[in-house]
Amino acid sequence: MNYEEYINAIEKLNLYSYHYYVLDDPLTTDEVYDKLYHEILEYEQKNPQETLKNSPTQRVGDVVSEGFTKEKHLSRMWSLEDVFDAEGLEKWLTKSYKLDRNISFYCEPKFDGASLNLVYEDGVLTKGITRGDGEVGELITQNVKTIKSIPLTIEHKERIEIRGEVVLFKSEFEKINAQRTMSNEALFANPRNAAAGSLRQLDSSITAERNLVFLPYGVGENTLEQKLLSEKMSYIYALGFRKPPERAVCKDFHEIESIYEQMAHDRDLYPMMLDGMVVKVNEIASQIDMGYTVKVPRFSVAYKFPAVEKITTVKEIVLQVGRTGAVTPVAIVEPTDIDGVVVERATLHNFDEIQRKDIRLGDKVIILRSGDVIPKIIKVLAHERDGSEVAYERPTHCPVCESELLDEGVLLKCQNLECEARVVNSIIYFASKACLNIDGLGNKIVEALFTSRLVKSVVDLFDLTLEKLLALEGFKEKKSQNLLDAIQNARGCELWRFINSLGIEHIGEVASKSLSAAFGFSFVNASKEEIIACEGIGEEMAESLLEFVRVNAETIAKLQELLAPIEPLQRAEASENPFKGKTIVLTGSMSLSRDQIKETLEALGAKVSGSVSKKTDFLIYGEDAGSKHDKAMDLGVACLSEEEMRALIDG
Ligand code: NAD
Repeated sequence: MNYEEYINAIEKLNLYSYHYYVLDDPLTTDEVYDKLYHEILEYEQKNPQETLKNSPTQRVGDVVSEGFTKEKHLSRMWSLEDVFDAEGLEKWLTKSYKLDRNISFYCEPKFDGASLNLVYEDGVLTKGITRGDGEVGELITQNVKTIKSIPLTIEHKERIEIRGEVVLFKSEFEKINAQRTMSNEALFANPRNAAAGSLRQLDSSITAERNLVFLPYGVGENTLEQKLLSEKMSYIYALGFRKPPERAVCKDFHEIESIYEQMAHDRDLYPMMLDGMVVKVNEIASQIDMGYTVKVPRFSVAYKFPAVEKITTVKEIVLQVGRTGAVTPVAIVEPTDIDGVVVERATLHNFDEIQRKDIRLGDKVIILRSGDVIPKIIKVLAHERDGSEVAYERPTHCPVCESELLDEGVLLKCQNLECEARVVNSIIYFASKACLNIDGLGNKIVEALFTSRLVKSVVDLFDLTLEKLLALEGFKEKKSQNLLDAIQNARGCELWRFINSLGIEHIGEVASKSLSAAFGFSFVNASKEEIIACEGIGEEMAESLLEFVRVNAETIAKLQELLAPIEPLQRAEASENPFKGKTIVLTGSMSLSRDQIKETLEALGAKVSGSVSKKTDFLIYGEDAGSKHDKAMDLGVACLSEEEMRALIDG
């Protein structure tokens, strides 16, 4: 980097910071920002006399925006130095040990949200101030008072500044973006930007709606006498603040490394976004000795997690046709490594999303991959367009069977019941785990069966013979026999599986279980009123079922004869127990698989549902329970650990 490049890089980073901190609408990923930041830092270390005052290395990044009253912090707020790997951590430790040999380390998650400073005087919350430039921030006390995890009064009477991060839980973020989609508002790129944007609202009733959460990580001005940070923080939590999901005191590199590995591994299980782990010297006296640079404390470091957001290019948009005929667009992107996985496809949900985000072929986009979630495009970098990008044209014909598509606005549908994609996907669905659980009927095999015309609908599966299968390419005797056996084994399945496997629109596993329990085989004869009276079944579902039964009566009868499904024990037949007739939600990891626990509870007459609501009777949680547990607590739903559940089952 030469001087001119250095100046340009500073300009670029300051522009990125403005979009990130002031507009809450980033122009790039943190990874790109961090890389350029470190190039600037390196240049300045080599040429210290050339360091410019407006360099992002010289100041805390946030900018105080117009519209809010400015307020000076009692003591300064800081940013954090960051490291990205074990080598970086080791270097930081060597530096710290030079300043003080007798130190230990307090480790906790680095929450990805917005910094907040709270001032309490005589036990009363008097001010809430954003970090701003570290010296002066925005006074947002009214907004802060709407955050439920911030106590308005505390037992501590001396003046104290409590610092922490305001975050938005991932589930809440999804909810807000879904609402914004409905009302045609611009979407937030990620929970951090959504949290910062929600906190800095001129109208505090908007902040109040957003369910922000405050997680303290330290104190500013204070008169506390504890000698260790870990003790100070325990004191703060005891005043009524929320604890982090994980914290530990470590004595050396190996202990820090091991808790970092664990946190990075579990990052998706936490309800809030984490972008790393913060390591702080635990001894307050040593912290004071080590002091600060112009921007960061020398006694702490952010050990960042691998990035989950990357920039890539949209090469193509392809279409998938599902079993119901719904056509969904999928973006094919330049292959990009995200946290060890090469991502080549990103979901686009529907055609409205392409339009709303104005995604064009050739666009540079930010793509997010976290946990098991399918990678998605969270932002189009429209400012990087060079004019060669091509707008996407809404399709008019099915990409598989070429029949005309029905355009329902958000959804496009192939209406051809014999379309290969529809038939193949409905057979795959029929055989899937939550339906008949037939092994060996994956994508490739079903396609082979369909193109050879051996199977044109699910009923044909039962006409397959060894002879017919052996005539197909790639089908050896063992594989063919296994498939035939698996199909035969589906005979005698539970009735709810049978209902679910029919693929009736809006009727999934939970509704199938309700119908099976309420009507047994007579679900085909139930009236609309009777169906709606079933738990969890609404009008749209009832109409869908009635219509399906009317049109497909013959197929249902035929499949019933072929599969001979078994009616469930009626609920009344389950003996008396605390879970009978109750609605239960499971969360977190338990000693047995979720499916096994679900089966046990269902055998006791309980209904196991996927999401927590006021109607939930119990939430049963395992380790690392996340947002469902929080929601249950908020709604006052009884929460039981796995052990407590077992104790109740055992009486
Ligand atoms: P930072 O956010 O990386 O670290 C400092 C902040 O971490 C603190 O002020 C505090 O608010 C927060 N924090 C969370 N948990 C904490 C804990 N347990 N203990 C202490 N602090 C904790 O630093 P920054 O200076 O606010 O921002 C710089 C970072 O922001 C960059 O590294 C970059 O990733 C990102 N950024 C991105 C863009 C972009 O365009 N994408 C632009 C500007 C900045």
